[in-house]
Amino acid sequence: MDLYEYQGKELFRRFGIPVSDGRLATSPEEARTAAQELGGQVVVKAQVLTGGRGKAGGIKLAEGPDDAESHALAILGMDINGHVVRKLWIESASDIAREYYLSLTFDRGEKKALFMFTKEGGIDIEEVAAERPEALARLHVDPFEGFQTYQARRLIYGSGIEDEGEQKQIAKIVEQLYAAFVGADAMLCEVNPLIVTPEGQVKALDSKFTVDDNALYRHPDIAEMRDLEAYPPEERAAREKDVTYVKLDGEVGVLGNGAGLVMSTLDVVALAGGRPANFCDLGGGGDAQGVVDALEIIGADPQVKAILFNIFGGITRCDEVARGILQALGQLTIDEPIVVRLDGTNAEEGRRLLQEAAPPNLHVEPTMLEAAKRAVELAA
Ligand code: GDP
Ligand code: MN
Repeated sequence: MDLYEYQGKELFRRFGIPVSDGRLATSPEEARTAAQELGGQVVVKAQVLTGGRGKAGGIKLAEGPDDAESHALAILGMDINGHVVRKLWIESASDIAREYYLSLTFDRGEKKALFMFTKEGGIDIEEVAAERPEALARLHVDPFEGFQTYQARRLIYGSGIEDEGEQKQIAKIVEQLYAAFVGADAMLCEVNPLIVTPEGQVKALDSKFTVDDNALYRHPDIAEMRDLEAYPPEERAAREKDVTYVKLDGEVGVLGNGAGLVMSTLDVVALAGGRPANFCDLGGGGDAQGVVDALEIIGADPQVKAILFNIFGGITRCDEVARGILQALGQLTIDEPIVVRLDGTNAEEGRRLLQEAAPPNLHVEPTMLEAAKRAVELAA
Protein backbone atom coordinates (compact mmCIF):
# COMPACT_ATOMS: atom_id res chain seq x y z
CA MET A 1 0.00 0.00 0.00
CA ASP A 2 1.39 3.37 -1.06
CA LEU A 3 1.01 6.23 1.37
CA TYR A 4 0.53 9.87 0.52
CA GLU A 5 3.40 12.21 1.31
CA TYR A 6 1.61 13.62 4.35
CA GLN A 7 0.95 10.12 5.71
CA GLY A 8 4.56 9.06 5.17
CA LYS A 9 5.68 12.19 6.95
CA GLU A 10 3.37 11.38 9.83
CA LEU A 11 5.20 8.04 10.16
CA PHE A 12 8.57 9.78 9.79
CA ARG A 13 7.56 12.09 12.63
CA ARG A 14 6.66 9.12 14.85
CA PHE A 15 10.14 7.70 14.36
CA GLY A 16 11.79 11.04 15.09
CA ILE A 17 12.78 12.03 11.54
CA PRO A 18 12.57 15.85 11.24
CA VAL A 19 9.79 17.12 8.96
CA SER A 20 8.12 20.52 8.55
CA ASP A 21 4.82 21.49 10.11
CA GLY A 22 1.83 21.20 7.83
CA ARG A 23 -1.93 20.87 7.43
CA LEU A 24 -4.15 18.87 5.10
CA ALA A 25 -6.57 20.84 2.91
CA THR A 26 -9.25 19.71 0.48
CA SER A 27 -10.48 23.14 -0.66
CA PRO A 28 -8.95 26.54 -1.44
CA GLU A 29 -10.59 27.93 1.74
CA GLU A 30 -8.96 25.22 3.85
CA ALA A 31 -5.65 25.98 2.18
CA ARG A 32 -6.04 29.64 3.13
CA THR A 33 -6.82 28.76 6.77
CA ALA A 34 -3.89 26.35 6.88
CA ALA A 35 -1.53 29.05 5.59
CA GLN A 36 -2.90 31.49 8.16
CA GLU A 37 -2.32 29.03 10.98
CA LEU A 38 1.18 28.13 9.82
CA GLY A 39 2.18 31.74 9.15
CA GLY A 40 4.85 32.97 6.72
CA GLN A 41 5.67 31.31 3.40
CA VAL A 42 4.07 27.93 2.74
CA VAL A 43 4.34 25.27 0.07
CA VAL A 44 1.11 23.99 -1.51
CA LYS A 45 1.68 20.34 -2.39
CA ALA A 46 -0.61 18.07 -4.42
CA GLN A 47 -1.20 14.76 -2.63
CA VAL A 48 -1.29 12.03 -5.26
CA LEU A 49 0.08 8.49 -5.26
CA THR A 50 2.65 9.21 -7.97
CA GLY A 51 5.97 11.02 -8.22
CA GLY A 52 7.11 14.00 -10.28
CA ARG A 53 4.57 16.38 -8.81
CA GLY A 54 6.98 19.30 -8.90
CA LYS A 55 7.60 18.90 -12.63
CA ALA A 56 3.86 18.61 -13.29
CA GLY A 57 3.14 21.92 -11.54
CA GLY A 58 1.63 20.28 -8.46
CA ILE A 59 3.98 22.00 -6.00
CA LYS A 60 3.92 25.78 -5.53
CA LEU A 61 5.49 28.21 -3.12
CA ALA A 62 3.00 30.69 -1.61
CA GLU A 63 3.82 34.01 0.09
CA GLY A 64 0.79 33.85 2.38
CA PRO A 65 -2.90 32.89 2.73
CA ASP A 66 -4.07 34.68 -0.49
CA ASP A 67 -1.40 33.04 -2.53
CA ALA A 68 -2.01 29.66 -0.93
CA GLU A 69 -5.70 29.90 -1.78
CA SER A 70 -5.10 30.71 -5.45
CA HIS A 71 -2.46 27.98 -5.85
CA ALA A 72 -4.85 25.53 -4.19
CA LEU A 73 -7.56 26.50 -6.67
CA ALA A 74 -5.19 25.79 -9.55
CA ILE A 75 -3.81 22.50 -8.19
CA LEU A 76 -7.03 20.87 -6.95
CA GLY A 77 -8.57 18.85 -9.76
CA MET A 78 -5.28 18.80 -11.68
CA ASP A 79 -4.40 15.51 -13.40
CA ILE A 80 -0.90 14.30 -12.51
CA ASN A 81 0.07 11.13 -14.40
CA GLY A 82 -3.57 10.00 -14.37
CA HIS A 83 -4.12 10.86 -10.70
CA VAL A 84 -6.64 13.60 -9.95
CA VAL A 85 -5.63 15.88 -7.08
CA ARG A 86 -8.26 15.89 -4.33
CA LYS A 87 -6.04 16.69 -1.35
CA LEU A 88 -3.31 19.21 -0.61
CA TRP A 89 -0.61 19.30 1.99
CA ILE A 90 0.14 22.85 3.07
CA GLU A 91 3.55 22.97 4.65
CA SER A 92 5.74 25.69 6.19
CA ALA A 93 8.24 26.53 3.47
CA SER A 94 11.88 25.62 3.99
CA ASP A 95 14.97 27.44 2.75
CA ILE A 96 17.13 24.98 0.91
CA ALA A 97 20.92 25.06 0.77
CA ARG A 98 21.41 21.49 -0.47
CA GLU A 99 19.22 18.61 -1.65
CA TYR A 100 20.27 15.02 -0.94
CA TYR A 101 18.61 11.66 -1.57
CA LEU A 102 18.11 8.83 0.93
CA SER A 103 16.14 5.65 0.49
CA LEU A 104 15.71 2.22 1.97
CA THR A 105 14.20 -0.61 -0.03
CA PHE A 106 14.56 -4.34 -0.60
CA ASP A 107 17.26 -5.82 -2.74
CA ARG A 108 15.51 -9.08 -3.52
CA GLY A 109 18.58 -10.55 -5.18
CA GLU A 110 20.66 -10.07 -2.03
CA LYS A 111 17.69 -10.78 0.27
CA LYS A 112 18.65 -7.72 2.29
CA ALA A 113 17.43 -4.20 2.89
CA LEU A 114 19.33 -1.70 0.78
CA PHE A 115 20.16 1.90 1.67
CA MET A 116 20.92 4.33 -1.13
CA PHE A 117 22.27 7.78 -0.53
CA THR A 118 23.58 10.54 -2.78
CA LYS A 119 24.36 14.21 -2.51
CA GLU A 120 22.66 14.64 -5.89
CA GLY A 121 19.09 14.65 -4.65
CA GLY A 122 15.96 16.51 -5.66
CA ILE A 123 15.92 15.29 -9.24
CA ASP A 124 15.13 11.91 -10.77
CA ILE A 125 17.22 9.37 -8.95
CA GLU A 126 17.00 7.05 -11.96
CA GLU A 127 19.03 9.62 -13.91
CA VAL A 128 21.76 9.73 -11.28
CA ALA A 129 21.84 5.93 -11.11
CA ALA A 130 22.12 5.64 -14.91
CA GLU A 131 24.55 8.47 -15.63
CA ARG A 132 26.70 8.72 -12.53
CA PRO A 133 26.37 5.41 -10.64
CA GLU A 134 29.52 6.20 -8.63
CA ALA A 135 27.68 9.13 -7.03
CA LEU A 136 25.16 6.74 -5.48
CA ALA A 137 26.34 5.09 -2.25
CA ARG A 138 24.71 1.69 -1.66
CA LEU A 139 24.74 -0.31 1.53
CA HIS A 140 23.03 -3.56 2.50
CA VAL A 141 21.75 -4.36 5.97
CA ASP A 142 21.83 -7.99 6.98
CA PRO A 143 18.45 -8.81 8.57
CA PHE A 144 20.08 -11.12 11.13
CA GLU A 145 22.60 -8.53 12.27
CA GLY A 146 20.14 -5.66 12.09
CA PHE A 147 21.22 -2.07 11.70
CA GLN A 148 24.63 -1.08 13.11
CA THR A 149 25.66 2.54 13.60
CA TYR A 150 28.91 2.07 11.68
CA GLN A 151 26.77 1.41 8.60
CA ALA A 152 25.34 4.93 8.70
CA ARG A 153 28.86 6.32 8.91
CA ARG A 154 30.01 4.21 5.99
CA LEU A 155 27.06 5.43 3.89
CA ILE A 156 27.72 9.06 4.75
CA TYR A 157 31.52 9.04 4.33
CA GLY A 158 31.08 6.95 1.18
CA SER A 159 29.09 9.73 -0.43
CA GLY A 160 31.42 12.53 0.60
CA ILE A 161 29.45 14.41 3.28
CA GLU A 162 32.16 16.43 4.98
CA ASP A 163 30.32 18.76 7.33
CA GLU A 164 30.34 17.29 10.85
CA GLY A 165 26.92 18.68 11.78
CA GLU A 166 25.40 17.14 8.66
CA GLN A 167 27.16 13.84 9.29
CA LYS A 168 25.68 13.60 12.77
CA GLN A 169 22.14 14.52 11.73
CA ILE A 170 22.13 12.26 8.69
CA ALA A 171 23.51 9.33 10.70
CA LYS A 172 20.62 9.70 13.10
CA ILE A 173 18.08 9.96 10.27
CA VAL A 174 19.53 6.85 8.61
CA GLU A 175 19.03 4.92 11.85
CA GLN A 176 15.52 6.32 12.30
CA LEU A 177 14.62 5.48 8.72
CA TYR A 178 15.68 1.87 9.31
CA ALA A 179 13.50 1.81 12.45
CA ALA A 180 10.56 3.21 10.46
CA PHE A 181 11.11 0.68 7.65
CA VAL A 182 11.16 -2.30 10.00
CA GLY A 183 8.61 -0.88 12.43
CA ALA A 184 6.01 -0.22 9.74
CA ASP A 185 6.82 -3.35 7.67
CA ALA A 186 7.66 -1.09 4.74
CA MET A 187 8.74 -2.09 1.25
CA LEU A 188 10.11 1.35 0.45
CA CYS A 189 11.00 4.50 2.40
CA GLU A 190 12.34 7.25 0.18
CA VAL A 191 13.31 10.80 1.08
CA ASN A 192 13.90 12.93 -2.01
CA PRO A 193 14.99 15.54 -1.23
CA LEU A 194 16.56 15.25 2.17
CA ILE A 195 17.47 18.89 2.56
CA VAL A 196 20.02 20.94 4.44
CA THR A 197 18.78 24.42 5.34
CA PRO A 198 21.12 27.45 5.22
CA GLU A 199 21.30 27.09 9.04
CA GLY A 200 22.59 23.55 8.61
CA GLN A 201 19.46 21.70 9.71
CA VAL A 202 18.76 18.42 7.90
CA LYS A 203 15.15 17.35 7.28
CA ALA A 204 12.87 15.27 5.09
CA LEU A 205 11.14 17.50 2.55
CA ASP A 206 9.33 14.68 0.74
CA SER A 207 8.26 11.14 1.57
CA LYS A 208 7.50 8.08 -0.47
CA PHE A 209 6.37 5.27 1.81
CA THR A 210 5.11 1.85 0.74
CA VAL A 211 3.87 -0.62 3.34
CA ASP A 212 3.67 -4.37 2.73
CA ASP A 213 -0.03 -5.23 2.26
CA ASN A 214 0.55 -8.61 3.87
CA ALA A 215 1.66 -6.97 7.11
CA LEU A 216 -1.19 -4.47 7.39
CA TYR A 217 -3.02 -6.68 9.88
CA ARG A 218 -0.23 -5.82 12.32
CA HIS A 219 -0.70 -2.09 11.76
CA PRO A 220 -4.39 -1.19 12.03
CA ASP A 221 -3.46 2.50 12.29
CA ILE A 222 -1.62 2.37 8.96
CA ALA A 223 -4.30 0.18 7.34
CA GLU A 224 -6.76 2.96 8.14
CA MET A 225 -4.71 5.37 6.06
CA ARG A 226 -5.88 3.65 2.89
CA ASP A 227 -7.76 6.12 0.74
CA LEU A 228 -10.53 4.10 -0.88
CA GLU A 229 -11.51 6.98 -3.13
CA ALA A 230 -8.14 6.74 -4.85
CA TYR A 231 -9.18 3.37 -6.32
CA PRO A 232 -11.71 2.73 -9.11
CA PRO A 233 -15.07 1.44 -7.77
CA GLU A 234 -14.51 -2.16 -8.84
CA GLU A 235 -11.15 -2.28 -7.06
CA ARG A 236 -12.78 -0.94 -3.95
CA ALA A 237 -15.50 -3.62 -4.14
CA ALA A 238 -12.85 -6.32 -4.68
CA ARG A 239 -10.97 -5.24 -1.58
CA GLU A 240 -14.13 -5.16 0.52
CA LYS A 241 -15.20 -8.61 -0.69
CA ASP A 242 -11.71 -10.07 -0.48
CA VAL A 243 -11.67 -11.01 -4.17
CA THR A 244 -8.33 -11.13 -5.99
CA TYR A 245 -8.76 -8.59 -8.80
CA VAL A 246 -6.26 -7.05 -11.16
CA LYS A 247 -7.06 -4.32 -13.69
CA LEU A 248 -5.57 -4.56 -17.18
CA ASP A 249 -6.27 -2.52 -20.30
CA GLY A 250 -8.01 -4.75 -22.86
CA GLU A 251 -11.65 -5.69 -23.37
CA VAL A 252 -12.13 -9.30 -22.18
CA GLY A 253 -12.93 -9.80 -18.49
CA VAL A 254 -11.28 -12.98 -17.22
CA LEU A 255 -12.42 -15.18 -14.37
CA GLY A 256 -10.80 -18.41 -13.33
CA ASN A 257 -10.10 -20.58 -10.35
CA GLY A 258 -6.46 -20.69 -9.30
CA ALA A 259 -3.60 -18.36 -10.19
CA GLY A 260 -2.00 -20.72 -12.72
CA LEU A 261 -5.20 -21.26 -14.66
CA VAL A 262 -5.94 -17.54 -14.68
CA MET A 263 -2.44 -16.75 -16.00
CA SER A 264 -2.80 -19.28 -18.82
CA THR A 265 -6.25 -17.89 -19.60
CA LEU A 266 -4.68 -14.47 -20.12
CA ASP A 267 -2.21 -16.07 -22.54
CA VAL A 268 -4.96 -17.88 -24.42
CA VAL A 269 -6.97 -14.66 -24.78
CA ALA A 270 -3.86 -13.06 -26.30
CA LEU A 271 -3.37 -16.10 -28.54
CA ALA A 272 -6.96 -15.70 -29.77
CA GLY A 273 -6.13 -12.12 -30.75
CA GLY A 274 -7.77 -10.32 -27.83
CA ARG A 275 -6.65 -8.44 -24.76
CA PRO A 276 -7.75 -9.04 -21.17
CA ALA A 277 -9.52 -6.12 -19.46
CA ASN A 278 -8.91 -7.51 -16.00
CA PHE A 279 -8.89 -10.76 -14.11
CA CYS A 280 -10.37 -12.28 -11.00
CA ASP A 281 -9.10 -15.39 -9.28
CA LEU A 282 -11.80 -17.37 -7.50
CA GLY A 283 -9.14 -19.40 -5.73
CA GLY A 284 -9.66 -23.00 -4.74
CA GLY A 285 -13.15 -22.61 -3.27
CA GLY A 286 -15.34 -20.87 -5.79
CA ASP A 287 -18.70 -21.33 -4.08
CA ALA A 288 -21.80 -19.61 -5.45
CA GLN A 289 -21.34 -16.41 -3.42
CA GLY A 290 -17.71 -16.14 -4.55
CA VAL A 291 -18.85 -16.32 -8.18
CA VAL A 292 -21.52 -13.68 -7.60
CA ASP A 293 -18.93 -11.34 -6.03
CA ALA A 294 -16.37 -11.87 -8.79
CA LEU A 295 -18.88 -11.43 -11.63
CA GLU A 296 -20.18 -8.27 -10.03
CA ILE A 297 -16.66 -6.81 -9.83
CA ILE A 298 -15.67 -7.84 -13.37
CA GLY A 299 -18.95 -6.56 -14.79
CA ALA A 300 -18.47 -3.18 -13.07
CA ASP A 301 -15.34 -2.45 -15.15
CA PRO A 302 -16.60 -0.26 -18.01
CA GLN A 303 -13.90 -1.57 -20.37
CA VAL A 304 -15.25 -5.14 -20.29
CA LYS A 305 -17.02 -6.09 -23.52
CA ALA A 306 -17.19 -9.85 -22.91
CA ILE A 307 -16.48 -12.12 -19.96
CA LEU A 308 -14.51 -15.33 -20.18
CA PHE A 309 -15.13 -17.76 -17.38
CA ASN A 310 -12.55 -20.52 -17.24
CA ILE A 311 -13.08 -23.19 -14.60
CA PHE A 312 -11.22 -26.36 -14.04
CA GLY A 313 -13.06 -28.35 -11.42
CA GLY A 314 -10.79 -29.98 -8.89
CA ILE A 315 -11.78 -29.08 -5.38
CA THR A 316 -14.14 -26.58 -6.96
CA ARG A 317 -17.03 -28.58 -8.38
CA CYS A 318 -18.29 -27.39 -11.75
CA ASP A 319 -21.96 -27.84 -10.81
CA GLU A 320 -21.39 -25.50 -7.86
CA VAL A 321 -19.79 -22.93 -10.16
CA ALA A 322 -22.65 -23.26 -12.64
CA ARG A 323 -25.14 -22.59 -9.86
CA GLY A 324 -23.06 -19.57 -8.87
CA ILE A 325 -23.17 -18.23 -12.42
CA LEU A 326 -26.93 -18.69 -12.64
CA GLN A 327 -27.42 -17.14 -9.22
CA ALA A 328 -25.25 -14.19 -10.20
CA LEU A 329 -27.17 -13.68 -13.43
CA GLY A 330 -30.38 -13.71 -11.42
CA GLN A 331 -29.09 -11.07 -9.02
CA LEU A 332 -27.14 -8.78 -11.31
CA THR A 333 -27.82 -7.16 -14.61
CA ILE A 334 -24.90 -8.21 -16.75
CA ASP A 335 -25.41 -7.19 -20.38
CA GLU A 336 -22.06 -8.40 -21.65
CA PRO A 337 -21.85 -11.85 -23.21
CA ILE A 338 -20.39 -14.49 -20.91
CA VAL A 339 -18.46 -17.43 -22.32
CA VAL A 340 -18.00 -20.39 -20.02
CA ARG A 341 -15.58 -23.25 -20.21
CA LEU A 342 -16.18 -25.86 -17.53
CA ASP A 343 -14.05 -28.94 -17.19
CA GLY A 344 -13.06 -31.35 -14.44
CA THR A 345 -15.08 -32.50 -11.43
CA ASN A 346 -18.82 -32.63 -12.24
CA ALA A 347 -18.28 -30.78 -15.54
CA GLU A 348 -21.16 -32.54 -17.30
CA GLU A 349 -23.56 -31.71 -14.51
CA GLY A 350 -22.38 -28.10 -14.60
CA ARG A 351 -22.80 -27.73 -18.36
CA ARG A 352 -26.23 -29.37 -18.20
CA LEU A 353 -27.37 -26.85 -15.56
CA LEU A 354 -26.20 -23.94 -17.71
CA GLN A 355 -27.73 -25.29 -20.90
CA GLU A 356 -31.07 -25.97 -19.24
CA ALA A 357 -31.30 -22.45 -17.82
CA ALA A 358 -29.87 -21.04 -21.09
CA PRO A 359 -29.74 -17.31 -20.37
CA PRO A 360 -29.46 -15.53 -23.74
CA ASN A 361 -26.04 -13.97 -23.07
CA LEU A 362 -24.43 -17.21 -21.88
CA HIS A 363 -22.31 -19.32 -24.21
CA VAL A 364 -20.84 -22.65 -23.20
CA GLU A 365 -17.71 -23.85 -25.02
CA PRO A 366 -16.00 -27.22 -24.62
CA THR A 367 -12.35 -26.13 -24.56
CA MET A 368 -10.28 -23.26 -23.25
CA LEU A 369 -9.11 -22.16 -26.72
CA GLU A 370 -12.58 -22.26 -28.25
CA ALA A 371 -13.96 -20.33 -25.28
CA ALA A 372 -11.22 -17.69 -25.62
CA LYS A 373 -11.84 -17.34 -29.37
CA ARG A 374 -15.56 -16.93 -28.77
CA ALA A 375 -15.02 -14.33 -26.03
CA VAL A 376 -12.61 -12.34 -28.21
CA GLU A 377 -15.09 -12.47 -31.11
CA LEU A 378 -17.94 -11.28 -28.90
CA ALA A 379 -15.83 -8.48 -27.42
CA ALA A 380 -14.88 -7.10 -30.84
P1 GDP B 1 8.04 15.60 -6.13
O1 GDP B 1 8.28 16.49 -7.31
O2 GDP B 1 6.76 14.83 -6.27
O3 GDP B 1 9.21 14.71 -5.84
O4 GDP B 1 7.83 16.57 -4.85
P2 GDP B 1 8.85 17.16 -3.76
O5 GDP B 1 8.15 17.23 -2.47
O6 GDP B 1 10.13 16.41 -3.77
O7 GDP B 1 9.12 18.63 -4.26
C1 GDP B 1 9.73 18.90 -5.49
C2 GDP B 1 10.68 20.07 -5.35
O8 GDP B 1 9.98 21.22 -4.91
C3 GDP B 1 11.75 19.84 -4.32
O9 GDP B 1 12.85 19.13 -4.83
C4 GDP B 1 12.14 21.27 -3.96
O10 GDP B 1 13.08 21.76 -4.91
C5 GDP B 1 10.83 22.03 -4.15
N1 GDP B 1 10.26 22.28 -2.80
C6 GDP B 1 9.43 21.49 -2.09
N2 GDP B 1 9.20 21.99 -0.88
C7 GDP B 1 9.91 23.14 -0.80
C8 GDP B 1 10.13 24.12 0.23
O11 GDP B 1 9.63 24.04 1.37
N3 GDP B 1 10.93 25.18 -0.09
C9 GDP B 1 11.53 25.30 -1.30
N4 GDP B 1 12.32 26.35 -1.50
N5 GDP B 1 11.37 24.40 -2.28
C10 GDP B 1 10.58 23.33 -2.03
MN1 MN C 1 10.39 14.32 -4.26
